[in-house]
Amino acid sequence: MRRLSIKQRVTAFYAAILLLFAIIIMTAFYFTLDLQFTHVSHSALERSVKNAFDHIEMPGDWLEVSNDFDFYVNDVTLLIYGVEGTKVMGQAPDGFPENMPLRSDVHQEYESEDENWQIYDLFTEYPNGNGMWVRGIYSLSSSMETLGNLLVIMLIAIPVFILIALIAGYTITSRAFVPVSQIQKTAELIIKKRDLSSRINLHGSVNDELFRLAQTYDELLDRIEDSFNNEKQFNSDVSHELRTPVSVIISQAEYGLSQNDPQIMRESLQSILRQTEHMSDMITQLLELSRTGNSLHNLNKEYFNLAELCDLVADELSENSQQKNIQIIRKLDPGIMVIADQTLLMRAIINLVANSISYGKENGFVMLDLHREEDKIILNVSDNGNGIAPEHLGKIFNRFYRADKARSRSGSSNTGLGLAMVKQIVEAHDGAVSVQSTPDVGSTFTISLPATSNDG
Ligand code: ADP
Repeated sequence: MRRLSIKQRVTAFYAAILLLFAIIIMTAFYFTLDLQFTHVSHSALERSVKNAFDHIEMPGDWLEVSNDFDFYVNDVTLLIYGVEGTKVMGQAPDGFPENMPLRSDVHQEYESEDENWQIYDLFTEYPNGNGMWVRGIYSLSSSMETLGNLLVIMLIAIPVFILIALIAGYTITSRAFVPVSQIQKTAELIIKKRDLSSRINLHGSVNDELFRLAQTYDELLDRIEDSFNNEKQFNSDVSHELRTPVSVIISQAEYGLSQNDPQIMRESLQSILRQTEHMSDMITQLLELSRTGNSLHNLNKEYFNLAELCDLVADELSENSQQKNIQIIRKLDPGIMVIADQTLLMRAIINLVANSISYGKENGFVMLDLHREEDKIILNVSDNGNGIAPEHLGKIFNRFYRADKARSRSGSSNTGLGLAMVKQIVEAHDGAVSVQSTPDVGSTFTISLPATSNDG
């Protein structure tokens, strides 16, 4: 048998509990009423029969019944019997056997085909040796009718009640489970269509656990889609970037092989070497980018002096700067401490300073300016180099983007990956990186980090 869904199980469970309660309450009510009826009939019988003796005298062998004596009182029919048990006065109800044996002070019941009676008899003996019986008969038909009606109401009401409970329960649980079925449908859609853009997109004001779960799933899908798209974009970027040097290598190799002139062959080989070096740089950078990406999930944060780190970077790159006679100016506020991943931050700052040297003019300068601005730590890396044209400014942080394509084509080590990595690192530290640049005047790259992370 097919297993019931959670909705059906919850509904069935509550319906069963309701049914049980309804049956218990109705049955208790039924039996209480029945007991009450018996109690009422017993006391009416006893009262009527005992009162009867106040109206009957037996001075000798005969009876004297007072004029106000009523043979039908409080729904009780009264009959008078002689000592030997023969009825002497009163009219028994239709269908009741008058000769039913008499038993003093005992409650009896008689059931005919269509009637039920309660019977109570009492015998009294007079001093003159005579005696008599008074019998009271109470018809249970109205009580039975009431109980019968109640039973019918129960038999109709309980199923209707349960049906209403089932429908209401199913509707409520169905509503509560809407997020679950939406989640399932979304998952099916993603699996079938291989489309990661589907979302559960729950609307409404109910902010319950399932609603929040659906929202969390949507956020999770956003993340998965983002990283999936990034991965796709990355793969296509890498293939695209490698295609250029590889096709140059192939064509140069073919060209060199087709020539006999050793000078031309040498030039071809030199060109092949440049492209291979460029590819090698790119692979190194890609590895570094991937390693950085991995470390970003697990930052190795420590408390250190950022000014000292900037100093260290400046020292490291001083040899490169000297080759172009570029002066590195340090304007470092000495007390600036941060809690950050030192290795990653160093990698970011090296990239910025190396770029400033690389794109700087001979005899120019690179300035590192580290200071605090309100709740931010600001590091400006400025140069008076080539600058960047405004149309490139918005894109230089994209992977593989180079404002000066001619350099890469010539086989230089510029891969267009450095600034993408800087951005990744800074953002992983809840910071931001921006650039201001004027062609032929110079550029300023600004890293801003939250100062909250530097005092603890
Ligand atoms: P790469 O330097 O390897 O090309 P980057 O991602 O570091 O890659 O830089 C992207 C591009 O931004 C560079 O190709 C260059 O055109 C431009 N750029 C970066 N820094 C500077 C700078 N200090 N001055 C001028 N242009 C720069």
